[in-house]
Amino acid sequence: MSLKKYNTKRNFKETPEPSGKPKKAGSKLIFTVQRHKASHLHYDLRLEMDGVLKSWAVPKGPSLNPQDKRLAMMVEDHPYSYRDFAGIIPEGNYGAGIVEVWDHGTLSDIDNSDTDTAERKLKAGLRAGNLKFTLHGKKLKGEFALVKLKARESSDSNQNSWLLIKHRDKYAVDEPYNSEEKTPKSSPINKWLAQHGKAAGAKVPAKKPIAKKAIPSAKKEAPIAIGVKKKE
Ligand code: MN
Repeated sequence: MSLKKYNTKRNFKETPEPSGKPKKAGSKLIFTVQRHKASHLHYDLRLEMDGVLKSWAVPKGPSLNPQDKRLAMMVEDHPYSYRDFAGIIPEGNYGAGIVEVWDHGTLSDIDNSDTDTAERKLKAGLRAGNLKFTLHGKKLKGEFALVKLKARESSDSNQNSWLLIKHRDKYAVDEPYNSEEKTPKSSPINKWLAQHGKAAGAKVPAKKPIAKKAIPSAKKEAPIAIGVKKKE
């Protein structure tokens, strides 16, 4: 597994994200879920395998309700050091926006095997397009599956589509699960959105509003300022 794709997409002189090196084997496997406000708000699920983080972008976020099948688009491997990355990715860079850690913890196979066995089983599941795993996080607990959707013939767009599904276990819930409601109002992204006067899911505001040229005949009436006050 390679971080080439990750590294070529990013300019490390501009983005605060870590440059990619795989970690050395050892200790328990980890997972992280980052909440990422880019052009759209989404969640990134990352599972450690072979010293890198296998990654899926989950538009609706994970769910603890087994009836939910959450679309998860597989993206490029991220370096192990990305697990606790949080911060602002500047405009003009890949994934520009803001990232926060939403949940994290350890990862295992569904039998909670020793690290080597668990990793071997996870990799086999990944190859088979049917990955079963256990998360020991603060919010996400218990067994989950990632199931790869079959790519439609003559279409590449579905090649990376998976479904994230909670298994029925003692951590599963029956009521609707909305990951946004599990996010504190005071989270860095929510604060940032509030500062920009936009609700979650809104677009990143343009850097500067387009100034309209003054119309000479409109001299008497001062134009009413519409829009959001920006703090710099
Ligand atoms: Mn992302």
